[in-house]
Amino acid sequence: MSTTATDPSNPPRQRFVGKTAVVTGAGSGIGRASANRFAHEGAHVAVWDVNRRSIDDTVAEIRAAGGRADGFHVDIANMKSVEAAAKATIAALGPVRVILNNAGILDDYANALDTDEALWDRIMGVNLKGMWLVSRALLPSMIEAGGGAIVNIASIAAFIAGGGGVAYTTAKHGVVGFTRQMALDFAHHGVRVNAVAPGAVETGMTAKILNDETLPVVHALRQAPAGRHAQPVELANVVLFLASEEASFVYGAVYLADGGWTIK
Ligand code: NAD
Repeated sequence: MSTTATDPSNPPRQRFVGKTAVVTGAGSGIGRASANRFAHEGAHVAVWDVNRRSIDDTVAEIRAAGGRADGFHVDIANMKSVEAAAKATIAALGPVRVILNNAGILDDYANALDTDEALWDRIMGVNLKGMWLVSRALLPSMIEAGGGAIVNIASIAAFIAGGGGVAYTTAKHGVVGFTRQMALDFAHHGVRVNAVAPGAVETGMTAKILNDETLPVVHALRQAPAGRHAQPVELANVVLFLASEEASFVYGAVYLADGGWTIK
């Protein structure tokens, strides 16, 4: 199975040459794979993450492969932090033409009674409010530069129950509404906004979950048509399509990439 466009026998397309791309949560998993792929196709990548060591690792990986990347420490749930990162990014790399709103956290499948206020607020802050804060901080420069593309990472939990707990599922449903409203509001500025809804992907987030036989989600996953977890690059490939000119007529879409989990 060939799932990677970074295979050396597969010369890179150059869909993002001359473009600055901000990737939130680029220190790990889907964000890191996407940051690598954007750089591989010519983008200068702003690696945004709350974890300083993972920022350095991603930047080093991209540079070692000959790509361009700089790291910016940020907590996307915090407005001041986001505004500072946006200012620093634009000052160093110029206007941002691509945003991947990817950073997210899990709620350990907590139901409403097991969810306290701090957990609810944290999940909403990172998984939903953070997308708005990041987009809000970067959009003016994107619009001024002539437009661009925003891709938001949702989840199968944006469509069905059981992909997370109550806060996670609620936040991810919110990502779909956010994506559609943003697509409507900014299309006339040359900004396309779309989302990707992954199924189970092998990342830092799911490392402990995907082999835990006590979780119903693990059994549901095996019954999905693909019958396996995805590798992060398989999501990155969908992200790059939506962020590229190849998706020039795609507005407000939510692309499922879930191995068929939700088709039955
Ligand atoms: P991951 O844990 O491997 O990576 C997430 C990254 O986000 C980490 O580097 C983390 O440090 C960063 N981050 C967390 N909070 C942050 C904050 N406040 N500010 C800045 N950065 C922050 O996770 P992943 O699996 O790659 O998840 C990426 C996205 O994909 C998330 O939105 C997640 O909900 C979604 N998703 C993942 C799966 C899956 O199976 N892995 C499935 C569906 C959706």
